Amino acid sequence: MAKRKPPSLAEFLDRFPDDGACETYLAARRWPDGFVCPACGGVKGWKLDRDRETWECAACGRQTSVTAGTVMHRSKIALHRWFLAAHLMATHSNGISALQLQAQLGLGSYKTAWLMCHKLRRAMVDPDRDPLGGIVEIDETSIVCRTKDEPVAGGQGRSSIGKILVVGAVELLEDGRPGRARLARIPDFQAVTLHRFVGQSVERGSTVVSDGLQAYRGLRDVEHERRVVGGMAAHILMPWIHRVFSNFKRWALGTLHGLRKQHVDRYLNEFVFRWNRRAHRRAAFDTLLGLATRLPHASYRNFVERTV
Ligand SMILES: [Zn+2]
Repeated sequence: MAKRKPPSLAEFLDRFPDDGACETYLAARRWPDGFVCPACGGVKGWKLDRDRETWECAACGRQTSVTAGTVMHRSKIALHRWFLAAHLMATHSNGISALQLQAQLGLGSYKTAWLMCHKLRRAMVDPDRDPLGGIVEIDETSIVCRTKDEPVAGGQGRSSIGKILVVGAVELLEDGRPGRARLARIPDFQAVTLHRFVGQSVERGSTVVSDGLQAYRGLRDVEHERRVVGGMAAHILMPWIHRVFSNFKRWALGTLHGLRKQHVDRYLNEFVFRWNRRAHRRAAFDTLLGLATRLPHASYRNFVERTV
């Protein structure tokens, strides 16, 4: 599988030199055949004289901006900066932390960068995604987390360092290479928990490959192959899910400087998003801007309180 090269920063800047270019792009994605009113379906309207391209419907009077229904909705940040943030998140194989984003975009506050990161991450999960299929490796692991303001490394402050449990799955393509993956935080390694994950993530009739853990016994609607060969290490028996786990852990330490428990789900989703699109980074860019998933507006408070 030849990986298509992600667009370079120079290419990006040529394509999107300013806010106007970003608006034109959004309008073309949104209304490929000309303006359509989201309220009444009317196709007659006029462009208003606003900062951001906005149309008023001739039939019902509703005003719609090109950013309505995207992660950029109601944001005071220039479109060009949003586009650059999505470019960086989609093309960097390791993504980008809020601190790095603040520096790269020259943003005044960390809070602004943090909120941009979270808004973009929110666009990363497609609620209609298809389950994994074919041969699917499944395994579970635990990941060290840090609590607020605690450094991740070192055994000092042992009481504040916790672990989260994660289950993961990756499908194998016909050429033996890994396809799409899924990761989920789970409360325990009990059978009911792991079976639920398999039910949600793996298509019926697929073949699930696991280690010898008893909890995987009795999986329904899938073939089940247990790989237990003497004392052979799990990363040899199931190499790809172990690659996924180790890449995730390295990313969590390197880019994120350790995981915080309260945001683990978003980070798992972000990792999976990039893993699943590592050969389709251009499409990932559209998705990140919220063009592929229509999202209602969410505020800083929504993210902090985890109500979105
Ligand atoms: Zn209308």
